[in-house]
Amino acid sequence: MKKAELRYHATTGEWVLISPQRSKRPNDFGAPSIKRKISSLKNCPFEDPQKSGNEIPLFWFPEDKSIEKWEIQVLPNKYPTLTHRHLSCAIFFKHGIYDVASGVGHHDILITRNHRKNYKDLSDKIATDVLSALVKRYKELSVDKCVAYVSMFQNFGPNAGASISHPHYQIIALPVVPNSVSRSISYSKRYYQKHHKCIHCDIIKQELKEKSRIIYNKNGIVAFVPFAAKEPYQVNVFPKNHQPYFEDSTPNTLSGLAVALKNILKSIYKNLKDPDYNFYIHTAPVLGKINFHHYHWHLEIVPKSNVSAGFEMGTGVEINPVFPEDAAKLLKN
Ligand SMILES: [Zn+2]
Ligand SMILES: [Zn+2]
Repeated sequence: MKKAELRYHATTGEWVLISPQRSKRPNDFGAPSIKRKISSLKNCPFEDPQKSGNEIPLFWFPEDKSIEKWEIQVLPNKYPTLTHRHLSCAIFFKHGIYDVASGVGHHDILITRNHRKNYKDLSDKIATDVLSALVKRYKELSVDKCVAYVSMFQNFGPNAGASISHPHYQIIALPVVPNSVSRSISYSKRYYQKHHKCIHCDIIKQELKEKSRIIYNKNGIVAFVPFAAKEPYQVNVFPKNHQPYFEDSTPNTLSGLAVALKNILKSIYKNLKDPDYNFYIHTAPVLGKINFHHYHWHLEIVPKSNVSAGFEMGTGVEINPVFPEDAAKLLKN
């Protein structure tokens, strides 16, 4: 058995404890255990979204067809975590020694038409359109001068936070830049100042040379299990060409990413026995956009597994029971 290792994450500055003593077989992997159910079409709020009390979509695809023919709708979330109903931006104020910002922002959802077809089952065309729709909405939101960061993600399954089984994706615009993003930005900035190179481009170069953590490399997209993966079977997906801003991706990059993402999700489905998962995009902030040439956008997929316990919560050090090289070996199939 391999010996435990503490690995340092080069772009987050976190230590991760890779400890195979706690290793689990892939089929015990789905530790959290709320059972996933596909709701009936009759009770689904997204079969006929507007009849079910959702607002008129912000836009739909295909754009040149009437709304009845929709394949993708982007709508304001009926139960938003943040809203922007008034003209003013978030107000920042002090509460004693604490800092507070009013919760001004946007919360949208993107739905695809078929009740049972999750991302991996979509056609290449619709899978690409999902990403193009995210780009389109991102660009609309980034015009709002009150928006500092736009987060885009999918929660799949109840253990990953999805409350509705119909496939959907979310877009949340925040008045602040979240910590994990600003920390990652400052690590890439520091590296750039020292080496005059992008840290993510150098990581990609090393991963391609080592090969042991690579699980996908095609059409300008590369995916690998990160050297210091915090979660077992986590996968990071990058455009190979340096690009700080997701919204500035070329159509070729988006179609390459769609095919890559479908492939990786199929492998996760097959090799890990259909776990719940989250995926999310890490891109440079809207606020101060011109300043992030040193950053490199990417997408992270995290199959849902072990729950954080006292050690992780008390130290911020995650325990990952699966060596990233072993995770990659399984997912490469
Ligand atoms: Zn549905
Ligand atoms: Zn780069």
